[in-house]
Amino acid sequence: MPSIPSYCRCGSGKPSRWLTDSQNIPLRGVCDDCEEAAKAKYEPWVFSGYDQAFLDEYSGERIEPLD
Ligand SMILES: [Zn+2]
Repeated sequence: MPSIPSYCRCGSGKPSRWLTDSQNIPLRGVCDDCEEAAKAKYEPWVFSGYDQAFLDEYSGERIEPLD
């Protein structure tokens, strides 16, 4: 895992943790306040599971974390 700021960047002042996809790849730092909003920015299958074959068909390239 990359390093992450001690406190969430959303401004809540709460400790941050990694929001990860279904393959445990870190997407971005979140806290209790902004986790749901952060998840809403990603497609549901990011968290429900996918494989490279799916990605090839979906976009033709690997998914990179958004920020
Ligand atoms: Zn936050």
